[in-house]
Amino acid sequence: MAARRAVAQGRAGGARPPAMGPALGRRAPAPRAARAAGRGRAAGAVGVRAEADYYSTLGVGRGADKKAIKSAYRKLARKFHPDVNKEANAEQKFKEISNAYEVLSDDQKRSIYDRYGEAGLKGSAGFGGGGFGGAGMGDFSSPFDIFESFFGGGGGGFDGGMGGGMGGRGGRARAKGEDERYDLRLDFLEAVFGCEKEISISRMDKCATCTGSGVKPGTSPRACSTCGGSGQVISTVRTPIGTFQQAAICPNCNGAGQTNEGCAACGGDGRVKASKKISIRVPPGVDKDSRLRVRGEGNAGRQGGESGDLFVVISVKDDPDMLRDGVNVNSTATISYVDAILGTTVKVKTVDGPVDLQVPAGTQPGTTLLMAKRGVPRLGNNTLRGDHLVKVKVTIPTRPTSDEKKKVEEIKELTSKSGSWL
Ligand SMILES: [Zn+2]
Ligand SMILES: [Zn+2]
Repeated sequence: MAARRAVAQGRAGGARPPAMGPALGRRAPAPRAARAAGRGRAAGAVGVRAEADYYSTLGVGRGADKKAIKSAYRKLARKFHPDVNKEANAEQKFKEISNAYEVLSDDQKRSIYDRYGEAGLKGSAGFGGGGFGGAGMGDFSSPFDIFESFFGGGGGGFDGGMGGGMGGRGGRARAKGEDERYDLRLDFLEAVFGCEKEISISRMDKCATCTGSGVKPGTSPRACSTCGGSGQVISTVRTPIGTFQQAAICPNCNGAGQTNEGCAACGGDGRVKASKKISIRVPPGVDKDSRLRVRGEGNAGRQGGESGDLFVVISVKDDPDMLRDGVNVNSTATISYVDAILGTTVKVKTVDGPVDLQVPAGTQPGTTLLMAKRGVPRLGNNTLRGDHLVKVKVTIPTRPTSDEKKKVEEIKELTSKSGSWL
């Protein structure tokens, strides 16, 4: 007789909720924590936290080059990725690292950060609206524009450092493309053991005609007719204390000083709607609502901006016999009262296929028997597996034959003498 492995009813051996929530970046070595995906990207391109020194967050010097920054980021991201690091502050730390990297890996943002700190990146925070540029000088909708107009109109502080660089680049930061969501339905076992899926998505792709720039190929830029190439427009504002000249970014060329002939294929947007097939590697242990992040497979950014990410949201088909509870699987085995008394072997459908389960003699109705390590691989650590828990149902005949009745009467007599049944 096999060793008895019944565990008390209701106690799930080692059951813990699976580590879900943060997405796994299958292609990217170190994606940012992806919880934000459900609520939209964390404050867009300038989502930064107060009082963080990005260089010390990444542990690099202020003179570090891009390569050093990238390698420092990767190392830290691997260490603090919430799927790997279960410490309480790991996710927060991971976000800080990602924020720092987002800024320091971007030449433009980094240069602003170096000069003006975080306030520069936040724009709207320190330079609250209304004080300047309000007099019909154009619609400054992004924080970046407000930032620029502050320095541009503030009396010459702008042209030395940033003016040249930013004018040359087209005036405003190119927005990252939007993230995209794809709902992927998996069979029960596909979720348990992982799978490879080819999915077809439709989203904005980089325009092939202009390679994403939005500029008609073969044409060259012309000086902007509105600002004459300066990238700024000057207006005179009369106030009770005097007349001021105010400069603002040219609304026609966005400060670039030049205009381009738009690409006909994309209308100057630099991107076109396109379908694409993508192969997704789903890791073992995913569950319903798991999110997989595929970096750079969202919508292309406008006019050459960075692509957004694709979030694959998992749902899982039910299995008629197996019920998943995190890394554990529950099922029910029905045996007769005779087998419960004498013991038996039942075939149980597990994720590994049918497995023989020994039901010990004297098993009580409602007992849960444990099949260790027949459950679901733990997401992110597939060497660990959950268990399969089998709840034993015992059937008792509702209409015993007279022969059966007679036998049970005999047993009754027997046990009333020995008291073994009680
Ligand atoms: Zn184009
Ligand atoms: Zn202009």
